[in-house]
Amino acid sequence: MIVEARGVSRSFGSTPALREAGLAVDAGEIVAVMGPSGSGKSTLLHCLAGIFTPDSGEVWFDGRRLDTLSDARRTELRRTAFGFVFQFGQLVPELTVADNVALPLLLGRVRRRDAYPRADAWLERLGLAELGKRRTGELSGGQAQRVAIARALVGGPRVLFADEPTGSLDSLTGEHVMDLMVGLAREEGTTVIVVTHDARVAAFADREVIVRDGRVTDPLGAAAARVPGEVVR
Ligand code: ADP
Ligand code: MG
Repeated sequence: MIVEARGVSRSFGSTPALREAGLAVDAGEIVAVMGPSGSGKSTLLHCLAGIFTPDSGEVWFDGRRLDTLSDARRTELRRTAFGFVFQFGQLVPELTVADNVALPLLLGRVRRRDAYPRADAWLERLGLAELGKRRTGELSGGQAQRVAIARALVGGPRVLFADEPTGSLDSLTGEHVMDLMVGLAREEGTTVIVVTHDARVAAFADREVIVRDGRVTDPLGAAAARVPGEVVR
């Protein structure tokens, strides 16, 4: 098990977003997280990635408890072990494509002369080699999302989290982006946890789970959902 949530609860004010949610993901697995809007998918992903701290419950990464680490150590772990693709890419529009992709490396104190060749190599793998010098504000949605994926993968993460990475794309471009992301992840042996609304996108995953009302169930709505804290596998 590389990533695991055990009985994770998290509220925003008086709104419970997660209610003792459990999910366990094996190394190298590609898991699609589906479910209605507002059911807690993004909150779950952010908790698993150490971006949010749960109110209660445990989050584990590779045998280590993530939710009890200090902020500094959790930030460091996120930078070295995780990649995160946000729904709208969240690229820095004033920077070039190559700058955006090199950014996580530069923040991790990789030297510029090492960071940029690595960024360029990823751009090439994603079919974006020609676009390195362009500002990200000038890109199409599909191009921007591929840049966001390159940026999430450039540091060689063990786990790639993606929150509706194809949500702003038409379905053909979305399938293409998902196909690329999953293909690269499989080549690298990266674990992928991807939130999506699109069943055709989810079809690229090894397994689907559904989030409903802040709990994780399997696609048949199996009993695990009704047993607080139980882990869906
Ligand atoms: P999903 O990603 O499945 O659409 P979310 O995890 O974003 O669901 O949200 C789950 C619930 O938590 C919703 O009721 C949502 O309104 C609430 N919520 C999520 N993030 C916040 C936030 N930052 N502030 C207040 N409420 C939030
Ligand atoms: Mg969401």
